[in-house]
Amino acid sequence: MTHPVYGGIEAGGTKWVCAVGAGPDGLRATETIPTTAPRETIDRAVAFFEREGPVDAIGIGSFGPVDLNPSSPNWGFITTTTKPGWAHTDVGPEIGRRLSVPVAFDTDVDAAALGEHRWGAAKGLDTFCYVTVGTGIGGGAVAGGKLVHGFQHPEFGHLHIPHDRERDPFPGVCPYHGDCWEGLASGPAIEARWGRPAAELGPDHAAWELEAHYLALGLVSAICILSPERIVLGGGVMSAPGLLPLVRREIGSLLNGYIANEAVAADDFVTPPALGPLSGVLGAIALAGGLE
Ligand code: ADP
Ligand code: ZN
Repeated sequence: MTHPVYGGIEAGGTKWVCAVGAGPDGLRATETIPTTAPRETIDRAVAFFEREGPVDAIGIGSFGPVDLNPSSPNWGFITTTTKPGWAHTDVGPEIGRRLSVPVAFDTDVDAAALGEHRWGAAKGLDTFCYVTVGTGIGGGAVAGGKLVHGFQHPEFGHLHIPHDRERDPFPGVCPYHGDCWEGLASGPAIEARWGRPAAELGPDHAAWELEAHYLALGLVSAICILSPERIVLGGGVMSAPGLLPLVRREIGSLLNGYIANEAVAADDFVTPPALGPLSGVLGAIALAGGLE
């Protein structure tokens, strides 16, 4: 009997990462496609799988918001995104039809959480969350060994955190909320506040104390609500040197000793993704494997 082969797509707002394989050790092919217009991007992804396949099933972790309701006529669609040209786009069903394979569909961050759970920094954990700080802030959570889905999917990035307008008069960049978590602490928020891309601010810039404070405020909310055994924290902004230790310190200071648990006290309670930039696409492959 041959082993099944899966296709995975991390369908991000900037780029799509496609891969064929069954896990981290056996990735047969990968391709990165810029996210342009839906038709062009989907055509290129379909062509990749036609060339590198066949695959038994495809998993897609997509930027959102997305429709995950299995009884909805729009299941597998990207819904109310502000990304030009992409609102109400059929992604999952379209790709499944064109390749004649079953499709598993979830958010990009849920897929990344799943990838880290199966093969990465959250292996064996019952309850944890994965948070990415990049162009936006997104989060996926696993509780009791399963991805948390409710009426839709978690929206970590849009929670509200305390905003001291005297310390930081910046109004925030979220088109819906202004100074929600993502509005204050995403990469574009850092750039808009300080007038330069986050990657160009030196390690001693005042931006990082404030960023660590905001990230910790949001993460403490996640800790208090979810009781995660670990937080996997990734995304482009977290590659800023020295930021992760500052975030850990701020979390400790905000919790102020109240949560006396060895998980929270561990050095690696907040940890980078072990799969690096492949968490999402490997998670998409794990999603496809879950169809069987
Ligand atoms: P996306 O969220 O689109 O998937 P990324 O996770 O790569 O993309 O995040 C992109 C964001 O990360 C950009 O806003 C960029 O300014 C920021 N970024 C990238 N590298 C660094 C760095 N070394 N230090 C701080 N911020 C960075
Ligand atoms: Zn918002």
